Amino acid sequence: MNYEPVIGLEVHAQLLTETKIFCACSTRFGSRPNENTCPVCLGLPGVLPVLNKKVVEYAIRAGLATHCAITRKSVFARKNYFYPDLPKGYQISQYELPICQKGWIEIEVGTQKKRIGITRIHLEEDAGKSLHEHPKTRQHGASWVDLNRAGVALIETVSEPDIRSAEETVAYLKKFRAILVSLGICDGNMEEGSLRCDVNISLRPVGTEKFGTRAELKNMNSFKHIEKALAYEINRQASLLDAGKTITQETRLWNDDLGVTESMRSKEEAFDYRYFPDPDLLPLVVSDTWITEIEKSLPELPDAMRDRLIRDYQLTPYDAAILTGSRDLSRFFEQSVQLYPEAKKVANWIINEFLRLIEGDESRIAGTKITPQHLAKTLQLVDAGTISGSVAKTVLQKIFESGGGPEAVIAREGLAQVSDTGALEAAIAEIIAANPDQVAKYKGGNEKLIGFFVGLVMKKTQGRGNPGLINKLLKDKLG
Ligand code: ADP
Ligand code: ZN
Ligand code: MG
Repeated sequence: MNYEPVIGLEVHAQLLTETKIFCACSTRFGSRPNENTCPVCLGLPGVLPVLNKKVVEYAIRAGLATHCAITRKSVFARKNYFYPDLPKGYQISQYELPICQKGWIEIEVGTQKKRIGITRIHLEEDAGKSLHEHPKTRQHGASWVDLNRAGVALIETVSEPDIRSAEETVAYLKKFRAILVSLGICDGNMEEGSLRCDVNISLRPVGTEKFGTRAELKNMNSFKHIEKALAYEINRQASLLDAGKTITQETRLWNDDLGVTESMRSKEEAFDYRYFPDPDLLPLVVSDTWITEIEKSLPELPDAMRDRLIRDYQLTPYDAAILTGSRDLSRFFEQSVQLYPEAKKVANWIINEFLRLIEGDESRIAGTKITPQHLAKTLQLVDAGTISGSVAKTVLQKIFESGGGPEAVIAREGLAQVSDTGALEAAIAEIIAANPDQVAKYKGGNEKLIGFFVGLVMKKTQGRGNPGLINKLLKDKLG
């Protein structure tokens, strides 16, 4: 049977406020364990939460940027469960009345644009962190609890099950991350857990409407893992369905060492959270004036920036979408174009070479040794004939590895183009002597072989020979 994947995401984003959502403790990452705690976030008896206004502003920014309706009167609820990293025995969250509802995010896959619905965005507090010692490293492996993260503000964004492939899943997450980062409300760092994603996936026979039973893949923290886990899960569910079996609704975890998803807990064991409105917090009322004020303060968002790049620089939608994948990357592009105004060429070099060097990881742009000045200068040196296009790639690679400007790198590595006729003639003479058969064929009329000879001379000069000059000299010599 042919199946179609149906995918919906729940994304938790840590907000970049200086203090926690219901107390004045710092949110600093990397403090000593339990340093950033107080009676409120430790859940001691008798304390009361006080809502951080900045958190609400940030959630509204996220809602407006994703075309959501902002709920004028939302309600905090208690989600009850027991776990050592949850000191109160409940998490303050929002349930029936979340702060943002019914929006969408636009994604591009190939040349297609598509809208993915946002069901809701709600506010909640993060839990602490448990650290389990491996039983083998200590005589009695202990577990430790660090409550520095308990009470840090989160927004949870739930998508509609509108996603249909791993490619769309990654496109959605990247777009959502770019929006959050450009709003300045989340750093988007998936490895440090500032952005955590649960992927829900089910299959249905192609051409049918009814959704199948879903599995929830919890805490996916990298795009590569998401792609692998979805590929695995699509296969697993398809085999079960083909064999006439049913899918169990359950939470699964990706095991990257084994390359499989594993069952974590089944629906039967799923918690009854006993949600109810938190009596310690008033309903959250936001005024129209405040919303309008926030709306006016929004920066240029990724979609608008993409459209502007298409308009102002005549880029293809595909290139523009890649270049607006992160604030750092679009800035790199725009700064480079200021210095070297051929936008299409700059876009190609950034997409094909620069992104390859940083392995497509835009968070590495801030720390890389290549600057827009370096890229622009390198392209100017190609135009001036100082280096060839292929050597330019080597130059960027060397700058990436050890820094320095392109001119310094070219001098240091001896990469300047050889336009010295004597040196090239010597190389040509050697190659002609070493390939008598090919020379005979060329002389016999197979003129296409000129490419073969140019290639050999280029190889001999380590890509540094001036291609135009080599061509001319070869033709002279071969007659
Ligand atoms: P829960 O907390 O039970 O996981 P949520 O409503 O918070 O429920 O999230 C459910 C997520 O699963 C949403 O992103 C939704 O789009 C997605 N989803 C719901 N039904 C299906 C389905 N049959 N197949 C795939 N995804 C689904
Ligand atoms: Zn506190
Ligand atoms: Mg879920």
